[in-house]
Amino acid sequence: MSEGHIVVIGAGQAGVMAAEGLRSAGYAGAITLLGDEPHGPYHRPPLSKGWLAGEVDAAQLVMRAPDLLAKKNITLRTDTRASAIDRVARKVLLASGEALEYTGLVLATGSTPRSLPLPGIDAANVLPLRSRDDASRIAEGLKACTERQQALVVIGGGFIGLEVAATARKKGVAVTVLEAAPRLLGRVLTPALSDWYAQLHRGHGVNLVLEARIAAIETDASGRQATAIRLADGSTLPCGLVVIGVGVSANDQLAQAAGLAVDRGIIVDACARTSDPLIVAAGDCTARRLPDGSLLRLESVQNATEQARSAAAALMGQERPFIATPWFWSDQYDRKLQMAGLSQGAEQSVLRGDMGAASFSIFHFAQGRLIAVDSVNAIKDHLAVRKLLDAGLSPTPAQAADPAFDLASTGKA
Ligand code: FAD
Ligand code: NAP
Repeated sequence: MSEGHIVVIGAGQAGVMAAEGLRSAGYAGAITLLGDEPHGPYHRPPLSKGWLAGEVDAAQLVMRAPDLLAKKNITLRTDTRASAIDRVARKVLLASGEALEYTGLVLATGSTPRSLPLPGIDAANVLPLRSRDDASRIAEGLKACTERQQALVVIGGGFIGLEVAATARKKGVAVTVLEAAPRLLGRVLTPALSDWYAQLHRGHGVNLVLEARIAAIETDASGRQATAIRLADGSTLPCGLVVIGVGVSANDQLAQAAGLAVDRGIIVDACARTSDPLIVAAGDCTARRLPDGSLLRLESVQNATEQARSAAAALMGQERPFIATPWFWSDQYDRKLQMAGLSQGAEQSVLRGDMGAASFSIFHFAQGRLIAVDSVNAIKDHLAVRKLLDAGLSPTPAQAADPAFDLASTGKA
């Protein structure tokens, strides 16, 4: 396909990368990039980190300025929501009633923060964090907390919750983190690293409650302002702001209504193809079918970027499977966590360095082979390991644990 009209729904990380990927792959036809937010494409990671801390300004948040997209002949339409897909007529229907014909379609609709079925959840100072506007509201809320000496309560000890907690502590706001599970970041970290993060946050003054059971969000008489969190044991935590970070759900509703295969995400193959040959999907909205038949959901910038490149290639009739090692990062206080590979299924984990020192890595092995590495302030380890995992090379556990062993020499005689 080199001529026609490709519509991209979602002007986030995956949408922009897909639109630009189409141009790089030689597509010369029209491209329309639809985004339902009022802003042009921006970077989401700083929203819980530098942007919230006031260290990143509006210009640095911009991912792609509209004029740069225009130069690539990509038509960006902000404030424009796609409301349905008519696969028979090959049209995207907009909320305004307009219809756009397509010859190819990219679904890059991202994900939506989960809510909680709690009394008081609709109060104005109970906020999720997904968009730039959410982050601005939280920044205002933190300012009010500082002025009124009120506390922040964060519900969820995942990436969002912990990054917001660290930023709020930097600003001097009192913080409680309520995590339902017995440990932090339980789905992605080993117990030892979860404990390390718990100590890190407690060391910075966070009141961390694990296995938290929340009964209600108490509000003022108007019901519009949350004033405290009530736990199941009857205790209360007074607060001026509540941030909810309890995970996300894939935005797969458009795809499902159009009859595409979905299962907690739009099902795609390694080349980002959906069950319709004219439609590809990329980023948080997808669930990737693996060779063993299972589905993998990844929610990261790298996943959105790589899958978008695969998606663009697929629409051009090229096979470009996403096979790179998954990697993620998280900044909390002055610690940079970098994860390469997926550690689920690890049978053995070894430490390189000292968890009490400024930097260290934990190497995870299954059947004697390296599958993933979590590094804290150890960028060199992280970069070396990504290359090893991409190349299918594995040090032995003993080599990995020996800081004197040069990881780059793995596999070399
Ligand atoms: P999104 O970036 O969410 O873009 C989807 C866009 O589509 C949105 O703008 C949405 O409004 C729009 N849209 C949805 N439906 C429609 C429709 N019907 N019509 C038009 N537009 C629509 N990942 C990392 O790897 N490292 C990090 O440090 C990191 N930090 C993060 C911090 C925060 C605060 C958040 C929220 C996320 C963070 N992530 C991080 C995750 C990362 O940002 C996401 O995985 C990534 O943005 C996914 O890209 P996407 O394009 O799939 O979705
Ligand atoms: P997340 O990482 O999935 O973490 C959600 C956390 O909330 C989990 O620890 C979860 O525990 C906990 N939780 C669930 N229900 C709860 C409840 N009722 N009470 C208290 N805790 C509860 O999701 P997130 O932090 O909300 O992040 C949202 C998205 O942004 C994700 O896609 C994430 O990857 C992305 N993000 C990424 C980064 C990064 O990569 N650095 C940073 C910020 C955001 P269980 O696991 O037990 O359910």
